[in-house]
Amino acid sequence: MSRYTLVVHGGAGTILKEDMTPELEANYKEALEAALEKGYGILEGGGPAVDAVKAAVIVLEDHPLYNAGRGAVFTHEGKHEMDAAIMDGSDLKAGAVAGVCNIKNPVVLALEVMQNSDHVLLSGKGAVEFAKAHSIKMEPDEYFYTQNRFDQLQAAKKTGGMLLDHNSEKNLSQLLKDKKFGTVGAVACDKNGNVAAATSTGGMTNKKWGRIGDSPLIGSGTYANNESGAVSCTGHGELFIRAVVAYDVCCLAQYKGISIQEAAEIVVHQKLKKINGEGGLIAVDPQGVPVMCFNSEGMYRGVKSSDGLHEVKIYKE
Ligand code: ASP
Repeated sequence: MSRYTLVVHGGAGTILKEDMTPELEANYKEALEAALEKGYGILEGGGPAVDAVKAAVIVLEDHPLYNAGRGAVFTHEGKHEMDAAIMDGSDLKAGAVAGVCNIKNPVVLALEVMQNSDHVLLSGKGAVEFAKAHSIKMEPDEYFYTQNRFDQLQAAKKTGGMLLDHNSEKNLSQLLKDKKFGTVGAVACDKNGNVAAATSTGGMTNKKWGRIGDSPLIGSGTYANNESGAVSCTGHGELFIRAVVAYDVCCLAQYKGISIQEAAEIVVHQKLKKINGEGGLIAVDPQGVPVMCFNSEGMYRGVKSSDGLHEVKIYKE
């Protein structure tokens, strides 16, 4: 039996201690702990990695503080268009959804696409039709309304802060300060050495034109392969797409014969940095070795492993 490990993230960005109250910090950490407990419990009981990552992501999707599911950010039109993906490293099966509205848990829909369709990625209205046909739980718009996110949208609109429209440093840092990188994700290695990854997000505040980020794109924001490991990313999606981050980390580790930690560092601190790609990732290899790597000020993150490792962190250390 190999070491089993669960790693979770709740987004990376300009997360500074001085912007945080002790109460808020405790809330963020509590949710990460709850996600770890849920997913780790499945691994401990001998469950597969793919079930563990799904369960951990659901906990964070149900939490209003994180930018996924219930706490998803607002689009320019005041809607919530969510993206999610899940991948099983044991057989390279994957499922994803992009730009879906009113789905309570987009990761559950992504898993449904993986397990009960002939496709990998469904989008928009079609994905919602698929969800209805498969009895996936929906929620009305009010469920996704959080005051904090609504205020962020007003602030983003006021500063002209459509990040992808006016990609200036000023807008970028302002939006980062608003902690809009709150995507959630989980990676796991189970008792049988199978790995899996899942990522879920509301994307970027004030996004327009059906913008899709890296999270639902297999290979960019989410990837898993038993040969190398599982990866879930968070950060400025456009740059993560261009750098094909999740697949690149796995390929570097596998083809170069280096550890997944070294591979992650090359991609996050060298390749992404070169194109101003801010953010980070979590990863795990098929021996259960965890990685939490980011080039931003902070990343909400946590790990629990059968070798006794158990921590939840927010800032750089
Ligand atoms: N990567 C996500 C996106 O670009 C954002 C995030 O990580 O919070 O949609």
